[in-house]
Amino acid sequence: MPSPAAPLLMRLLACSASAAVRAGAYVHEVMRSGELGIVIKGHNDLQTQADRGAQRLITANLRAAFPGLTVIGEEEEDPAAAPLGPDEIVEPLDEVLQQCHRCPEKVQNVRPEDLTVWVDPLDGTSEFADNLLDNVTVLIGVALEGQAVAGVVYQPYYRYLTDPSQAGRLVWGLDGLGIFGMGSDSHRPLPTGRVVVTTRSHDSDTVTAAVTACGPTQTLRVGGCGHKVLLLLERRAHLYIFASAGCKKWDTCAPEALLRAAGGRLTDIFGRQLRYDPGVERPNNRGVLAAMRVEDHQRCVEAMPEDRSIIKKA
Ligand code: AMP
Ligand code: MG
Ligand code: MG
Repeated sequence: MPSPAAPLLMRLLACSASAAVRAGAYVHEVMRSGELGIVIKGHNDLQTQADRGAQRLITANLRAAFPGLTVIGEEEEDPAAAPLGPDEIVEPLDEVLQQCHRCPEKVQNVRPEDLTVWVDPLDGTSEFADNLLDNVTVLIGVALEGQAVAGVVYQPYYRYLTDPSQAGRLVWGLDGLGIFGMGSDSHRPLPTGRVVVTTRSHDSDTVTAAVTACGPTQTLRVGGCGHKVLLLLERRAHLYIFASAGCKKWDTCAPEALLRAAGGRLTDIFGRQLRYDPGVERPNNRGVLAAMRVEDHQRCVEAMPEDRSIIKKA
């Protein structure tokens, strides 16, 4: 068990990291079973047994370890869900706790009531159902007084096509401390030109108009908010643009925190900061715009069409 003297935010990150890995193991189990248990939540909006079970594992672990913490998940909660079994309870991850001594001073004394945790137990469900498994991530984002400051992104099928023996990839970060788990991927030079990454399964004229406005030399269409931000962190793309209200707070909180910890930026498409207070509207009504380099982000904000009605104003 971590020393109770370890800062709450570090203990929460350590527990979130283990819970995300455990949830990823469950996602594998469901895929192996071949019984995805698909439920259609809305137009172009699916849920599977992996989404439901992964959320239960994460929220139950975090609530048990941190009484009084606000944890908001994408999926509707089942009041009759079984309590966690012994093989479902996670221990905080040592790799995170070992960084406690470097915890930034400004977050050393946060209290549970200052925090909101946003959970997307399986980001990229359309791609999960379409067997594009490296697009799938488990996202746990931590907001402090409404701002994304820490997060965990777990990719359960990292490099599964080229190296089936690979375990998943765990990336975590904290603003002011840095980002962990990217290895040499984050040292790659950026490609030439302007590579934009955007949605694969939620395209629209509006989405395409915003991408075009930024003058891409190449457009990558892949699934998941977590996966797209990993591509930015891997220096495979310059910009992530999504001019749609489809992405919710649980999609962006962890990815935004990682980008911030790595020196990048994620905002709405007009450059305004997103808020993650518990009562906030779930959709990111003004879309998502992210980049590793502040100058790429700024140039794209300036290039957005004059007609700002392209997506709903909040
Ligand atoms: P995408 O970039 O299309 O993979 O979307 C990133 C995340 O936002 C995924 O978790 C999607 O489920 C969610 N999302 C985006 N657009 C929509 C939409 N129109 N309806 C429901 N979810 C959406
Ligand atoms: Mg999602
Ligand atoms: Mg999801």
